[in-house]
Amino acid sequence: MNILDILSKKIKNKKLSKEEIDFFVKLCVSNQIEANKISAFLVATYINGMTNDEIYNLTISMTNSGEIYNVKSNNEILDKHSTGGVGDKVSIIICPLLASFGIPVAKMSGRGLGITGGTIDKLNSISVQTMFEKKKVQSLLHKYNFFIIEQSESIVPADKIFYSIRNDIAAVDSIPLITSSIMSKKLAINSKNIYLDVKMGEGAFFKNMKDAESFAKLAIKIGKQDNRNVCCYITDMSGPLGSTIGNKIEIFEAIEFLRGNFYSESLKKYLYDFISDVLIDYKKANSKKEAFQLIDMKINSLEAYKLLINYFNECGSKIEFSKWNDYETKFKHEIYASKSGYISWKIDRTYSDLVIDLKMGRTRKTDQIDNDAGIMIHKEENSKINKGDKILTIFSSSKISEKIIKNVMNMFALKKEKNPDKKKIIKIIK
Ligand code: URA
Repeated sequence: MNILDILSKKIKNKKLSKEEIDFFVKLCVSNQIEANKISAFLVATYINGMTNDEIYNLTISMTNSGEIYNVKSNNEILDKHSTGGVGDKVSIIICPLLASFGIPVAKMSGRGLGITGGTIDKLNSISVQTMFEKKKVQSLLHKYNFFIIEQSESIVPADKIFYSIRNDIAAVDSIPLITSSIMSKKLAINSKNIYLDVKMGEGAFFKNMKDAESFAKLAIKIGKQDNRNVCCYITDMSGPLGSTIGNKIEIFEAIEFLRGNFYSESLKKYLYDFISDVLIDYKKANSKKEAFQLIDMKINSLEAYKLLINYFNECGSKIEFSKWNDYETKFKHEIYASKSGYISWKIDRTYSDLVIDLKMGRTRKTDQIDNDAGIMIHKEENSKINKGDKILTIFSSSKISEKIIKNVMNMFALKKEKNPDKKKIIKIIK
């Protein structure tokens, strides 16, 4: 087999065999191929797409590019993964909460891609380590009933290689590449029940229902072939999720949530809805009502909060979480309403400049992230705003430029009428 023949087939949109795909992935992880050839493969895939068979074969080759983690637990392991959104700190809240109910959660996450934030960057922003040996992963699961790790040289290394190149060459929002990236990480751990949060809208990779549904159906099919239950939640990502966007600042909101300080009612509703479904699936509750009460109890008792901060401390964070009651950075800029109206949030094309200028994400893998940088939203979608109300605060560890302020102001509009209410969870596909 020859790499140039494989590339040429992919460029000419001819179907690749299982063996050809496997050959290509093996060359990538054994460092026997130049980065420009990997880029060519990714771009050709981005443009021409792949058949379902090719996507399945790519996923399996990527999974097998490293070790498989058969972690042990007394219960069926759950995995939850988001396809990536803006302000999406859901995993950080869900992992300790579900773990506190006796549901083991195994999570392998990624870094920020394009405009979306990554759970790993968020955890690293408070010095929580995410790269561990298999033995340590197992011990975290035993001790905390959950873990959040990143793919490494030993586990799904192919995804690590593709992920950073895709980000560098703007080849992110492709169904075959997203599906194989996510599902290879899911199959590399022996989780039984995989819940995928499929984000749809301007702030997500899937801009419309058609793409979100085709990803969901494919992920379910790949899961079935490997004897896993995959359940997809298609959720709205036309505006940011919750009240914060950034890395450290999203950890702050997650911690506050687990302490019962809900900054965003819509994030609370979304999380309660999702978690209650899981509690019913795992037979921990008989109804939504009962599940909601159980979640309230876990939050009021601070059980999930304590579990999370103990986990953070064990994994390297030196923050004194009990004293972290406010979000402060060296520079901040507050934005006030210049008129009255109903607020409407949006993510549009200028948002990617904002991510880069505020250093919340990267365009090249060498770009430095400003862990402190972020945005705190003080008014939720459709709130009534009076002239002079504080709408948001920008945080940064360096001076905040006029361009940043202009692009942040572009994220909202004050309208005469409320927008039609949008459901966060649009559709569930099993
Ligand atoms: N999350 C991933 O893990 N991979 C992608 O390609 C997109 C989101």
